[in-house]
Amino acid sequence: TAAMASEKEAALAASPSDDSPTIFDKIINKQIPANIVYEDEHVLAFRDISPQAPTHILVIPKLRNGLTGISKAEEKHFEILGRLLYTAKIVAKQEGLDDGFRLVINDGPSGCQSVYHLHIHLLGGRQMNWPPG
Ligand code: IMP
Repeated sequence: TAAMASEKEAALAASPSDDSPTIFDKIINKQIPANIVYEDEHVLAFRDISPQAPTHILVIPKLRNGLTGISKAEEKHFEILGRLLYTAKIVAKQEGLDDGFRLVINDGPSGCQSVYHLHIHLLGGRQMNWPPG
């Protein structure tokens, strides 16, 4: 679809070495609106602006702390990585995804990453397919 093509284009245009602020900082700082479904001191979850499933939520750390993507993970990130996965489970429950759901982390150009602030996609509300595109 056109939406999928533009998402891939955005991913290929984004720079994997880019350490500059992303659109997610503006969401965290409430400078632009987002449909926030969960928030605590460390983690924010909000609806993806271009949903690929009836439920499509992004779970992100409020403090990026070098985590432009999962490929940058170090031991100092162990706690936040656990929090992100646990929050994804809490939000899946909150969304009523009792039959199952999918968590996705895109990394780098080949992984179709377009925003260089670590995020877990929570997708659900329809039958997922395998393999993904
Ligand atoms: P990635 O392709 O894995 O990096 O995922 C980035 C996601 O962020 C995409 O699914 C986009 O639709 C989503 N996105 C980009 N900008 C915004 C926004 O302003 N609000 C909500 N989601 C966004």
